[in-house]
Amino acid sequence: MDYLQRLGAWAVANPRAVALLAFAMFVWVAFANCLPSKLFEDSTCTVLLDREGRLLCATIADDGQYRFPASGKVPERFEACICTYEDRYFRYHFGVNPVSVASALRTNYREGRIVRGASTITMQLARLMHKNAPRTFGNKLLEVLWAVRLEVGLSKDSILSLYAAHAPFGGNVVGLDAAAWRYYSTSAEELTWGQMAALCVLPNSPSIIYPGRNGERLRRKRDQLLHRLFVRSLLDSSELELALAEPLPEPAAALPQLAKHLYTRAIRDGKRGKTVTTTIDRRLQQLVEKVVAESATTIAAPNVSAIVASIRSGEVLAYVGNTPGLSSHGAYVDIPSSVRSSASVIKPFLYAAMLEDGLLLPNELVLDVPTKIGNFAPQNASRNFSGVVPASRALAQSLNVPIVRMLRVYGVKLFLDLLRAEGFTTFTRSADYYGLSLILGGGEISLWDLAGAYATLARTVVMYNPQQQGALRTVFPLHYVLKDSVPNAAQSLLGAGASYLTLQALRAVSRPVEEQGWQFFSSSRSVAWKTGTSFGGRDAWTVGVNPEYVIAVWAGNHDGSSVAGLSGVRTAAPIMFNLWSLLPHSQWFAAPVEDLERVPVCAVSGRPPSEACGEVDTVYAPAHRAIYAPCPYHRIVHLDSTGRWRVDASCYPASAILHRSWFILPPAAAWFYSRTHSRYDPLPPYLDGCAMDAGNRSMQFIYPRENAAVVSVPRDLDGQPSSVVFSLAHTDAQQIVYWHLDGEYVGMTSVFHQLALQPNEGKHELVVVDGDGQRASIRFTVRYRAK
Ligand SMILES: [Zn+2]
Repeated sequence: MDYLQRLGAWAVANPRAVALLAFAMFVWVAFANCLPSKLFEDSTCTVLLDREGRLLCATIADDGQYRFPASGKVPERFEACICTYEDRYFRYHFGVNPVSVASALRTNYREGRIVRGASTITMQLARLMHKNAPRTFGNKLLEVLWAVRLEVGLSKDSILSLYAAHAPFGGNVVGLDAAAWRYYSTSAEELTWGQMAALCVLPNSPSIIYPGRNGERLRRKRDQLLHRLFVRSLLDSSELELALAEPLPEPAAALPQLAKHLYTRAIRDGKRGKTVTTTIDRRLQQLVEKVVAESATTIAAPNVSAIVASIRSGEVLAYVGNTPGLSSHGAYVDIPSSVRSSASVIKPFLYAAMLEDGLLLPNELVLDVPTKIGNFAPQNASRNFSGVVPASRALAQSLNVPIVRMLRVYGVKLFLDLLRAEGFTTFTRSADYYGLSLILGGGEISLWDLAGAYATLARTVVMYNPQQQGALRTVFPLHYVLKDSVPNAAQSLLGAGASYLTLQALRAVSRPVEEQGWQFFSSSRSVAWKTGTSFGGRDAWTVGVNPEYVIAVWAGNHDGSSVAGLSGVRTAAPIMFNLWSLLPHSQWFAAPVEDLERVPVCAVSGRPPSEACGEVDTVYAPAHRAIYAPCPYHRIVHLDSTGRWRVDASCYPASAILHRSWFILPPAAAWFYSRTHSRYDPLPPYLDGCAMDAGNRSMQFIYPRENAAVVSVPRDLDGQPSSVVFSLAHTDAQQIVYWHLDGEYVGMTSVFHQLALQPNEGKHELVVVDGDGQRASIRFTVRYRAK
């Protein structure tokens, strides 16, 4: 209080001092706030750099200028050249150089006109900030004030970097980085002395001298600068000689346009007007673009997209968003971010999930028989059934029927949750909406997510470490910004063991007939890969992984219309394998042995052996999973001494009975299986007098009723033969009946056994089999009626 009172008294006594102090404070605040809130408001180009900082792609800024965002650093050669040419004492003055101001005043006074300026680089920067302001005394004073203020607030490096970013280099080229790329097609860091010197004389009179104009004056100025650098010992004599011999820059060249769709993706991600250092490998990008462009000329699909990424880091190394060089057909569409039917490419995740949960063993037989679930009757691409097939082969051959049956066991809801957890972001609807057709392409995915999810599958195996099983977080999406921290890495729901076994199944050891020729893909044995073709030939997918890389390819029509003959394996897979040939060869995945255990299985069924099974084998399965149900297909049957008839102790001497292990499939499976497995033996018939419950059920044809009947087929109004409705009675109302005409499966019926068929004229045989394997057959002859 005492202190404040004394201060008050002093102030009353010294009003001038108070006024002076207030003025000084006002000046200080005014000075501190004299700069515009943003030094530069100009729009800048969006600049995409590769992982080494080399330019991939840039286009003109919104105001029509080639102006790259300030990089924050300048090459040493630039500082040497620009300071030697414009402002030798840049590192020492405070924004204004009093010595050069004095000497400029003296010279100009002597000459009676302005022949010399005293502008420092900082003053030139202030002038650049003060765009197009008329050259009045007031403006000049303001710029000097700004220059001093800039020196107070910024480091010399920052000032130089701002100047480098905003200095004019002739035409619509602004800034050193844009100039280096436009005139020399290289980065500013890589400019030679000759190139840098030629550029550094441009900002002084950018409208008079620039590459392609006033070449002789440009050469003279450049050479003068080079000699001055030599005098200052910044160059040695041989460097000087080399620099003088360099050609002058050419008129502005076009900027590179690599990874164009990643560029638009970056803009969409909010990076407009920024420099984005990407994870792209420029050389690989060039090669991938070339291969995709060449491949695209040989296929019917106009749009092709491909992603190459690293398994461990998730970094995208090459990104072809659409067919390079395309000018129409939706050339602008960034395919990897659009969503398309997944077709078959998500099937491996179901296989892996069932292995993981102990619901399946890798080579366990799964049913491949006519199946109808509600209104959904899936078909294999071949329109055939194999009866039973090992699950691993069902996956490799992409059989629809067994996979749908597997999904019914696993549950659509759980599977949908799993897909989302493994990185698929576009399954936005409910399990009820998708239903079982989810696994066949009823949902949509993006190429980006697909590559990311397969990378995760491979990463879980590659990064497996038995010491930190629980902590291993391998699920994260692909990313293209270098050193972008990977957010929210999560633990995969699929362990290393299940992932490894899935990759094993996808290794090209067993491929369907329509994939003939895969052996010619040289890298197919070291790559786990999957193809998919969506309904109606709209999307062709192929995705493959090895321990180092993931490659995903999509081909089709950008607008979702069909392409004749489009197929994952014929259209997309050859492109993917061409891309693999660009990458270094890699070993196959190391088995995560601690996460696997050997499980004894029946050699035929792939399930744990029952007492009735014969040969026993072992397979790798994820360690410590559920107890698997034993093999249901082997039964001990009792035969007479000849082995031809079934008997039992009530009708045959017990000591003479042979006990045999017999592989017996459910009837529908048996029927299809036996067609391709000639060694499949049906159960022998009972010896007379031994049948215990045979003949309780029976099937009887109602139409045609008797063997060798003649079926007379009427014609429709348009002259075509109409359908024939075949019908049958079954004493057991619960039974499903499978119909086969001349050896071909034609359909199944339940409750009312009627089937409309259109057999050709001539002789036929109709065979029906019920769920218990009972069969009945009838032969008949078809005649078309005359009109
Ligand atoms: Zn068995």
